[in-house]
Amino acid sequence: MVQHERATTRSQLQLLRGTRAPAFAGVADEDWQDWRWQLKHRLNSIGELAEIIRLTPEEEEGIRASGILRLDITPYFASLIDPDDPTCPIRRQVVPTGRELVPFTAEMRDSLAEDLHSPVPGLVHRYPDRVLLLITTQCASYCRYCTRSRIVGDPHANFSPQEFEAQLDYLRRTPQVRDVLLSGGDPLILSPKVLEHVLSSLREIPHIEIIRIGSRVPIFLPQRITPELTDMLAKYHPLWMNIHVNHPKEITPEVEDALDRLSRAGIPLGSQSVLLRGINDHPAIMHKLMRELTRCRVRPYYIYQCDEVHGAGHFRTTVAKGIEIMESLRGHMSGYAVPTYVVDLPGGGGKVPVGPNYLLAQGSNRVVLRNFEGYIGTYTEPDDYQGPDMAVPEEWIWPEPGQRGVAGLLAGEELAILPQEFDAVHRRGGKEHRLNQDKDKWTPRGVGGQSVPHGG
Ligand SMILES: *Cc1c(COP(=O)(O)O)cnc(C)c1O
Ligand code: SF4
Repeated sequence: MVQHERATTRSQLQLLRGTRAPAFAGVADEDWQDWRWQLKHRLNSIGELAEIIRLTPEEEEGIRASGILRLDITPYFASLIDPDDPTCPIRRQVVPTGRELVPFTAEMRDSLAEDLHSPVPGLVHRYPDRVLLLITTQCASYCRYCTRSRIVGDPHANFSPQEFEAQLDYLRRTPQVRDVLLSGGDPLILSPKVLEHVLSSLREIPHIEIIRIGSRVPIFLPQRITPELTDMLAKYHPLWMNIHVNHPKEITPEVEDALDRLSRAGIPLGSQSVLLRGINDHPAIMHKLMRELTRCRVRPYYIYQCDEVHGAGHFRTTVAKGIEIMESLRGHMSGYAVPTYVVDLPGGGGKVPVGPNYLLAQGSNRVVLRNFEGYIGTYTEPDDYQGPDMAVPEEWIWPEPGQRGVAGLLAGEELAILPQEFDAVHRRGGKEHRLNQDKDKWTPRGVGGQSVPHGG
């Protein structure tokens, strides 16, 4: 393992309550505690940052270029930075370096093709029953690896009230959506009135069962989680929240208090972390992070493989590193503390869970499995199992038009899922002839009722 010459363990450790960079020592307590003050005094220039940390030439280059994504850091979050250690994980997440500007193979501006999966601007409908709503482009601070750097930080890219109306309209006429995930940007950066308007408008749509908020505000700006805010949020239950958090050092006493207020408002908390080179790509760091989150009643939800989004090249790791980290978590700590590691497939394939293989072999009535310790055991299956025999209410079968996928194959609804050009390729330009006219011969008995691949 390479170690940076100036790497210190101090830069990894958490800070005490109310720790402020010396430059903020004179700020009145009530200002420091005030989220509006924090937002107004965000750091975004070489001069301001140089008062807090000893900038490296590479960082200065990144700040000067300010090419890909806006720079803004709340004074609170900036105070968590180790001023002398350029490998500080807090610092690397928010202070740009020249490396952001280096292009890499496979990078894209919208690597998840979100805008292509948006029936109306800012509404991404990729999965059968849930949508992602991008309701702002603003954040409390800006993560250098942001997957939405194409819009985030740019006030001109913000969504208009008309676009929000179009999003609502789409939701009203799409009853298969029962889960709406608010993101951006950061929904908790919206003015309280606007946020409440969004929530109450969604709650008027009867088929929307749950609302979720994805936010990094509890980490960048825990002061924002006021009792007024949590009281307002609690009016719109069932409301869930996912906190974006990447390193144990982010979990300060201020953050713990903010998370406690959210929990007490009855909001189930989850976490999402991005696997980032030089920040958390170490089993001990992820292990510590997941333990800290669980202690704060946050259920670790996802670890994301870093997206192939431009600006983020230098933060990426191999997928093998993620699998290695998962190996170090499962079995080694409470199951509650173990998230799912996912690769969000470029082009819009969506999240795919990956992890170590525990299933080693399968025979006719037996599977061979290994556990986290390396114990290899067998499970003997019943030899008379025929599947479920009960009837289920028709309305419990959720419609998933065109998205039944592999579950549909298992349910016998179709015989195969075909590559786009399959039929044309396999016809090889051939014409109808005496052997291919009778399509019935490719209709599998008891499967689907659809015709089989070559039946076209
Ligand atoms: C991640 C994501 C969701 C939510 O996925 P879950 O696995 O249900 O958390 C929904 N829509 C889009 C476009 C997403 O990227
Ligand atoms: S908080 Fe989220 S949306 Fe905002 S910059 Fe960070 S990753 Fe991007």
